[in-house]
Amino acid sequence: MLNTIKGVIFGHAVADALGVPVEFCTRDELDIKSVIDMEGFGTYNVPAGYWSDDTSMTLAALESLANGRLDYNGIMDNFCAWLGDGKFTPDGDVFDVGASCRKSILLYAGEHLSAIECGQDSEWDNGNGSLMRILPFILYTYYKRCEDPIQIIHNASRMTHAHERSLIACGIYAHVVWSILDDRSVEAVYRGLAEAERYYLGREELEHFSRLFELDFAKLPISEIKSSGYVVDTLEASIWCLLNSKNYKECVLRAVNLGEDTDTVGAIAGGMAGAVWGYTDIPEKWIKTLARRDYIEELCIKACRKWYC
Ligand SMILES: [Mg+2]
Repeated sequence: MLNTIKGVIFGHAVADALGVPVEFCTRDELDIKSVIDMEGFGTYNVPAGYWSDDTSMTLAALESLANGRLDYNGIMDNFCAWLGDGKFTPDGDVFDVGASCRKSILLYAGEHLSAIECGQDSEWDNGNGSLMRILPFILYTYYKRCEDPIQIIHNASRMTHAHERSLIACGIYAHVVWSILDDRSVEAVYRGLAEAERYYLGREELEHFSRLFELDFAKLPISEIKSSGYVVDTLEASIWCLLNSKNYKECVLRAVNLGEDTDTVGAIAGGMAGAVWGYTDIPEKWIKTLARRDYIEELCIKACRKWYC
């Protein structure tokens, strides 16, 4: 169980850090100069191994859930400590934050609303900002065998992203990861997708995700796969990368080198890849370069102890 939790959380963080130096680079630029290793600087003035908001918000949620209970307001307090004080960052500095996340966190801090009422819900608030921090909730509901886990995943999204499209994106991802946790294989992805499709059947918003449920989705040419920060693009790109890879390294380098939202597409693919192939498949050199790896490991150990049934 610890190996799996570490695989998922480190899988996410390592891929985030691989993507940070080339965030916003185009696919053409990365075709010429591809990412093949952990590097520093580039898009942001930060050294190798620094992760971004994706991992900060993931750790903020994990730190609270690792107490063994679900407390949306407690998690939102951690998001405030991240955005306001730089907690859960590599070195105390918040160097990126998405617009919907920022608005929702400030709303919570200013208006004293319940955390799950703070999310932005317009159609334009469907960036990947809830998908990129949903993994601790997926692990928590799985290991704690929560009743109605999908409701928890939707509420977790609602803290920052409350539009139904974002809820469904998180729900599809959750079904896929739960399925992988049951059966550590790439084939499990297809079962997870089928379960998600069944769960959301009849919802109008599901049509935005229809390509994922087509039998030959994995065979789509790379030119058909967009890697923008739009939640549908990010989910498609990360699953496509996983389905076309044979190990962690191949999957996350493929994801990062798609370009544009490199850190988040990488992180979302990396979390799944870490679940499939495990912590030991993540290159040791990358883990050693990762900022605050001892702290991340401590959180994983604490979660494992508290979630063990
Ligand atoms: Mg980021």
